[in-house]
Amino acid sequence: MEPDSAVYKTLLESTKAIPWKIDWSTMQFAYIGPQIEELLGWTPESWVTAEDWAMRIHAEDREAVVNFCISQSKSGIDHEADYRALTRDGEHVWIRDVVHVVRNPDGSPNALIGFMFDITERKKTEARLIELQKELEALSYRDGLTNVANRRMFDSALEVEWANALNNRTPLSLIMLDIDYFKQYNDHYGHIRGDECLKKVAEVLTKAATRTRDFFARYGGEEFVLILPEADAKAALQVAQRCRKLVQDEAIPHEKSQVADVVTISVGVSTIVPSAQDHRIAFMERVDQRLYKAKQLGRNCIAVDE
Ligand code: GH3
Ligand code: MG
Ligand code: MG
Repeated sequence: MEPDSAVYKTLLESTKAIPWKIDWSTMQFAYIGPQIEELLGWTPESWVTAEDWAMRIHAEDREAVVNFCISQSKSGIDHEADYRALTRDGEHVWIRDVVHVVRNPDGSPNALIGFMFDITERKKTEARLIELQKELEALSYRDGLTNVANRRMFDSALEVEWANALNNRTPLSLIMLDIDYFKQYNDHYGHIRGDECLKKVAEVLTKAATRTRDFFARYGGEEFVLILPEADAKAALQVAQRCRKLVQDEAIPHEKSQVADVVTISVGVSTIVPSAQDHRIAFMERVDQRLYKAKQLGRNCIAVDE
């Protein structure tokens, strides 16, 4: 049995998708579903010309969408476009317009028929997902405990600064810092207090270097690292001294330390003007050796290049 046109009309006008038809020769609406009024607030009668449609597209989307639809239609290609449709009360709704080109026997467009779908919720979800993705990216470069940059971020930062120093033949200094007798701190005060201590130390150390490209990160465990671009050995030593003082002045009690009655750090400093045959990893090892030396010298002190 063939459904009659009344059945078609009921079907078309009871779906969520909004049907419409534009005659190509006149560029006028031959039909638009009454659902349009509920969605956008404009009555079906107010959709007269294709211009009415174009003017109800958000200004930022309008030109691209109109040009795209015209060129696709002229080529007889079915297409779809996402855009923000303006509502009568000045808001906007995200629409996906799915368009079928009805063609004359010679292939030229005769009419456009289509459905508009409200995709606002989907767009909101998409936007939220993009936001979450960004948050996740930001988090993956941050240390969860101390909220400073993590080892991964440090590796990227050092790579960039190394290349910079190499190209510009400028000095690059690196400082590694390690809390003294931290195992004993944990054993004596417990892990929770240990975590708090790490947070506090990270917090004060972020204040040690103040130039815009100076970079501070938690290297791992109770070790921290500072990249000082364009800082020579003398400047780096000054920052290292400030680090040591900042931590000591925080006066976090440490009964089990063998060098002081408060939490202290040992510091290794090294400076390089990298050349092509130098390697970043070897430089890192050198800084690590300085830190080891500071530990051997009795801790709570700074070791620099010979
Ligand atoms: P040294 O003076 O030679 O540096 O001795 P140390 O005890 O500080 O060094 P060691 O490497 O032996 O111990 C480091 C300790 O740091 C052991 C580990 O349990 C603790 N630690 C590492 N990460 C964390 C953390 O996230 N939280 C807490 N509470 N402790 C941590
Ligand atoms: Mg330690
Ligand atoms: Mg350590």
